Amino acid sequence: MITIAKTVDEVRSIVKGWRKEGLSVGLVPTMGFLHEGHKSLIDAAVRDNDRVVVSVFVNPTQFAPNEDFESYPRDLNKDAELCEKAGAAVIFHPEPSEMYHEDYSTFVDMRTLTQVLCGKTRPIHFSGVCTVVSKLFHIVAPDRAYFGQKDAQQLAVIRHMVEDLNFDIEIVGCPIVREADGLAKSSRNTYLNEEERKQAVILSQALKEGLSLIQQGERDADKVKNVVRSRIGTAPLARIDYVEMVDFKTFENVKEIKGEILTAVAVYIGKTRLIDNFIWKG
Ligand code: AMP
Repeated sequence: MITIAKTVDEVRSIVKGWRKEGLSVGLVPTMGFLHEGHKSLIDAAVRDNDRVVVSVFVNPTQFAPNEDFESYPRDLNKDAELCEKAGAAVIFHPEPSEMYHEDYSTFVDMRTLTQVLCGKTRPIHFSGVCTVVSKLFHIVAPDRAYFGQKDAQQLAVIRHMVEDLNFDIEIVGCPIVREADGLAKSSRNTYLNEEERKQAVILSQALKEGLSLIQQGERDADKVKNVVRSRIGTAPLARIDYVEMVDFKTFENVKEIKGEILTAVAVYIGKTRLIDNFIWKG
């Protein structure tokens, strides 16, 4: 059976043992309820490293009080099975109290990149993400850490943080894994009822339409965004949070499509907020 480490000391001593043997270590940070998207990260980590730690931690500091921290789906037994089959060595699964002691008061705040897109709707989110990922980096001290492009802003924020704070860790970005109809896999897809699930495909369909416009030569970001918006509008249960096109380095809005551009959407399908994106390089 795969080892499930619940304390910081436990995971540290396991990693120390590996280091003594000269083994390399990969880390895959997750909130659990693992699916094929997470598995693709674990597969990449197993390919690149001698040992892999998967953290399964629903991090309270990245959820606002009105968000879904309590109801976020959890299934450690199933997660352990997936991790073991994929070849991970350890799951780090701490209680919130292990990560945040009663007198906890240090947070990692990034001044750029985090105020736009998801950071606008979820103002404390990236502070929570940067804080917990920094802690995981200190605890596990991996050679490499794996993040999905599904959360493209998070990936960019983590890369920036690693540079700013001199973490000696290679950040590996992995492509988005989708359902057969195009919906990006997400633990939150389990919130969708049958009708919502059907309509959720509108995110990837609208983005596909936007991408094909760019591929046909359209360079006006407003035009592409309008097409994406109106396509999403055809799903009666969809309510747009944002449709944005930004420079993937600076996260500044673009008017003209050139360089490396992130086109990202966040859409409520019923009560469930879903995100999706594509990156285009011209
Ligand atoms: P989460 O458990 O949702 O916090 O996600 C943990 C990691 O898995 C993050 O780096 C996500 O970007 C990544 N991830 C989640 N869903 C997907 C997906 N459909 N394809 C690729 N990576 C994903």
